[in-house]
Amino acid sequence: MLDYHLHLWPHSEHETPLRPEQLADYCTRAQEAGVTELAVTEHLFRFRQAATLVGGFWDDERVPPALAENMAEYWKFHATADLDAYVECALAVKDAGLPVVIGLEVDYYEGRMDAVADLLAGYPFDVLLGSVHWIGGWRFDDIEDPASMAEWPARQVDACWDAYTVALEELAASGACDVLAHPDLIKAAGHIPDAPAEWWDRIAEAAVASGMAAEVSSAGWRKPVGEQYPAMGLLERFVARGVPLTTASDAHRLEHVADRADDLRALLGAAGAGSLQGYRGRTAYPVAVSGPAGGRV
Ligand SMILES: [Zn+2]
Ligand SMILES: [Zn+2]
Repeated sequence: MLDYHLHLWPHSEHETPLRPEQLADYCTRAQEAGVTELAVTEHLFRFRQAATLVGGFWDDERVPPALAENMAEYWKFHATADLDAYVECALAVKDAGLPVVIGLEVDYYEGRMDAVADLLAGYPFDVLLGSVHWIGGWRFDDIEDPASMAEWPARQVDACWDAYTVALEELAASGACDVLAHPDLIKAAGHIPDAPAEWWDRIAEAAVASGMAAEVSSAGWRKPVGEQYPAMGLLERFVARGVPLTTASDAHRLEHVADRADDLRALLGAAGAGSLQGYRGRTAYPVAVSGPAGGRV
């Protein structure tokens, strides 16, 4: 088992120092849960080095002014960390022999993914997660933000799923990342179409066409939707099409590391998924669902 989606900082914090001991504690907790490899995957947008490339994406005539202002405030609070120091911290932990690989969670930025890929090529990343967290300037999954959640009743659920899927398809086609994180995140706040199969098919096809793996995450159990990502219907489509899988908690603090690993393991068994996929230097290798991983990181 893997935990290939881990953050160092809760969204409520933005000046937390980097501490190798934090990752060592993550490893201890994960190993107690039978998880043998971890990927540290902080959000790219939290780093100053990304600000000039992707900051200001909300300054777009398609984004309503109130949402643009909201996103600008969010960005100002979050985008304060140093990418070089983050990579150095993760490298130090990896070099010390802990089972950690170095990654990032990279959002989709329309028209800017080539520039993002150029920036990231300068760092020794093992794995890059690709995520869609916003549609235009709307943070559809930010359940802590009343303004973002107030958008849901004003929109059609099917149209939201469609816009999300278009962004995910474009992200996958960009080739910038390795793993589709929380592939059906659009459901996080609990809004699901009556017949989601059309979108499940498109998301699964996007994964196949890009060669990306898909993440199976326990984080959805901690959100209003109360269901893992992806839904069983989407997970079955990934398995049927041979899409490689990772497992993840998307923890932002120690108590959620390896969260519900046993439930994820059972889910993989029910879906007929026989193995997982790990990464080193952005090259994939197989990892067993249970038992020890393919080798020491
Ligand atoms: Zn995410
Ligand atoms: Zn995340």
